[in-house]
Amino acid sequence: MKEVRDIILEETQYKSKYTEETNKMVISASMVADEPLEIFLKLIYGVQPATDIDESTFGSIMHKGMESIIESYIEKTKPKEVIYLEYPLVHDIDDDWILTGTADMVVYEDDLNAHIYDWKVTKNYTTKMIEKEGKMHRYAIQLAALRYLLYENNKKVVDIYTHLGFFLKDSNKLMKVPSYKEAKVETMGTGDFTKYLKSKLSIVMEHIKNATTPPQGEDLWWRKIKGNNIPTRCELYCGYRDVCPYYKGMNPRAAAETALDW
Ligand code: SF4
Repeated sequence: MKEVRDIILEETQYKSKYTEETNKMVISASMVADEPLEIFLKLIYGVQPATDIDESTFGSIMHKGMESIIESYIEKTKPKEVIYLEYPLVHDIDDDWILTGTADMVVYEDDLNAHIYDWKVTKNYTTKMIEKEGKMHRYAIQLAALRYLLYENNKKVVDIYTHLGFFLKDSNKLMKVPSYKEAKVETMGTGDFTKYLKSKLSIVMEHIKNATTPPQGEDLWWRKIKGNNIPTRCELYCGYRDVCPYYKGMNPRAAAETALDW
């Protein structure tokens, strides 16, 4: 048997089934809120294989767990709603781009009303940021993309409600116990979302055509940790460090390694 760690890494890797099937450029719902630079690097270098167990691995493990919990609930209770798990969605935006996405769960109350659920493993801080940033928080933008895709795939549906389910790692401030919270999240409507998406894609396209690299993102979530300035966006959430021309000049990993228990 393989090492358990290797099995986990293999089974939790992101695998896009669309990239090989089309000659158009593919953007996924989870990439829409990314900076043009991150989208550009993903298109040029493809999905980078994970070499370590990280935040996204824990997220994938939770998703697999939720899938089996809800499947068992459906089997036992036979609810009247129609429930889909890991619901794949795809839409041709124009001659150059395809938008794809997978909704963690879609619940059809009836033909006209649907609910999209997206589950996240995160911290209290994120829920506060969602309150602050509203429709422009990256999770709300991801939900807007899924909502847009669901609408484009089923124009009969009139109302689509969007929900985030948070598996909080630090629910109680003092004891840092985990908990589950759910929130209905308002997202951009289809018109605003289309404008937002197209303007971002046109920036990326321009750089591809001119063979130039988009500028570095403005907010790398710099944090002072043990006296070192560390761009946590690069360190914790970006798999493109090895191919990012800006990261090489920052040398933050050396600083991160000296900040022992961050
Ligand atoms: S390594 Fe940092 S600067 Fe480079 S793409 Fe990733 S987040 Fe952006």
